[in-house]
Amino acid sequence: MSPTHIESRPVIGLTTYRKTSAQTPPLPLMALMPTYIEAVAAAGGIPLLIPLGLDEDALSAVLARLDGLILTGGGDIAGDYYHSEHADFIFDIDADRDRVELFLAREAVTHRKPLLAICRGHQMLNVALGGTLYEDVMEWMPGAIKHDFFGVFPRNHQAHAVTIQPGSKLADTLGRRETSVNSLHHQGIRDLAPGLAATAHAPDGLIESVEVIDHPFALGVQWHPENLVHDDPVMLSLFRALVDAGSN
Ligand code: MN
Repeated sequence: MSPTHIESRPVIGLTTYRKTSAQTPPLPLMALMPTYIEAVAAAGGIPLLIPLGLDEDALSAVLARLDGLILTGGGDIAGDYYHSEHADFIFDIDADRDRVELFLAREAVTHRKPLLAICRGHQMLNVALGGTLYEDVMEWMPGAIKHDFFGVFPRNHQAHAVTIQPGSKLADTLGRRETSVNSLHHQGIRDLAPGLAATAHAPDGLIESVEVIDHPFALGVQWHPENLVHDDPVMLSLFRALVDAGSN
């Protein structure tokens, strides 16, 4: 249940990305799609955007003031962080965003801060704890189905099923053994990091959800629940679970 008084509502930090405005001349922006922000608010949390460019001391100070953290979706993570030998399949890298999110992911795990890691964030959590990625799932994962529906269908297009591990935090949160998800990613988890448990899989075996073992609430999902909350309100429960964990 969400706290009644607004001043007691958990503050949930969300990571941002760099964009360039469409006007002439173009202006540099730090941005986030409002669907993430609206989902946090609908779940009873206070959304707060975390800028890029902060040093580690500042990021630690921000994290200390937050009740929970969302690592958001976005472009690829630089291959240096997971021993990639196929750099030509990796694109849309922001070295500063990688640095900021790797630090925040590790700090959130170390300090047992409630964490929801979405799409790129789910991959980031795995890389931050020592796991690796398929640079491109279709190219490098044997038997892969299509996972990259970016730009092909609307973001709420339910692309494939996932099977959920009974007894996992994901199963408890969604109350389901199987669910239908959107799929807007071309990369995916290859080797699972130590300290993570894989808790949901796509029909081709790709890891679609992880949780940090022995952590109050640190969950990664490869899909985008913020784009599904209107079609499948159960997806809002992921944000509610984060907010609830942040109010403890
Ligand atoms: Mn997928």
